Amino acid sequence: MKEMLLVGRGGEGVVLASQILAETFARAGFFVQSFPEFTAERRGAPISASLRWDESPIHRRYKVRDCDVLVVVSSSPPSPQALAKLRPGGLVLLNRETRFPHTGPFDIARVPAARIAQRHGILSSEGRPMGNVAVLGACVSLLIPDGLAFLEQAVASRMGAKAGANVAAARDGHERCTKQHAAAGDTPVEAASLAQVVRSSGTPVFAVSTTDSRGNHTGTWSLDRPLIAVECTACGVCALFCPEGAMTKSDGAMVIDYLYCKGCGICEVVCPVRNAIAMEEVPA
Ligand code: SF4
Ligand code: SF4
Repeated sequence: MKEMLLVGRGGEGVVLASQILAETFARAGFFVQSFPEFTAERRGAPISASLRWDESPIHRRYKVRDCDVLVVVSSSPPSPQALAKLRPGGLVLLNRETRFPHTGPFDIARVPAARIAQRHGILSSEGRPMGNVAVLGACVSLLIPDGLAFLEQAVASRMGAKAGANVAAARDGHERCTKQHAAAGDTPVEAASLAQVVRSSGTPVFAVSTTDSRGNHTGTWSLDRPLIAVECTACGVCALFCPEGAMTKSDGAMVIDYLYCKGCGICEVVCPVRNAIAMEEVPA
């Protein structure tokens, strides 16, 4: 039996991806389980879904705690907590165009899923590319020999009017998945990840508030953060859309409260001014 975790953000289609992949495994003749894990948050919050598959019936009935395959649906890099759940010798699949400049006791594969989604016009309501199905194409190329036709059937059965573009994205993801080899200059991710997990032990992975939203420091989830450039006209559109109320105008300039900015990137997408705001990875 193999176990998988799919991780991403609310609104990126992580749960739907796990269901489509489960159906793909089932169509390919495997026994399979799929179940999501939600927290008390909402769009943009960390989310995961679990998958088990085997050639024999599966009797395990509890959540996947560590996994053989980690699938990162977001185009953000995986969090240390997510990487720490990957078993030695496992595989991490990244939604990423450029190489991941780290090594670890696992294989690394990547697929430019966001670019594929953009090309096929598969966008969220805010205009962000939805790379979930392209990621599934890559998953199937790595895990299910001759599985592409089963994935196409599963996508078609679940996507309704959007099936055509998503089937095309699944094919592209299947074709454009590459395995990464270690290169000079890569830093070991294992030590860095474990150190960060140890540092954060004793605090919940997901922020919890029993009073009001000011106690919920959603900025602690952030893997990316927005930076405002001189081109910003302080029109305030981004502040209207920010789901955390993390953007305000002060003395004619926009200010971001990184204690609450969860790095969802909506502000970058809705900004009407070219180069006024851009997301970058939060420095380690
Ligand atoms: S929407 Fe863009 S231009 Fe307007 S305030 Fe935000 S970053 Fe600046
Ligand atoms: S500031 Fe931007 S990235 Fe941060 S929470 Fe608000 S919309 Fe999301």
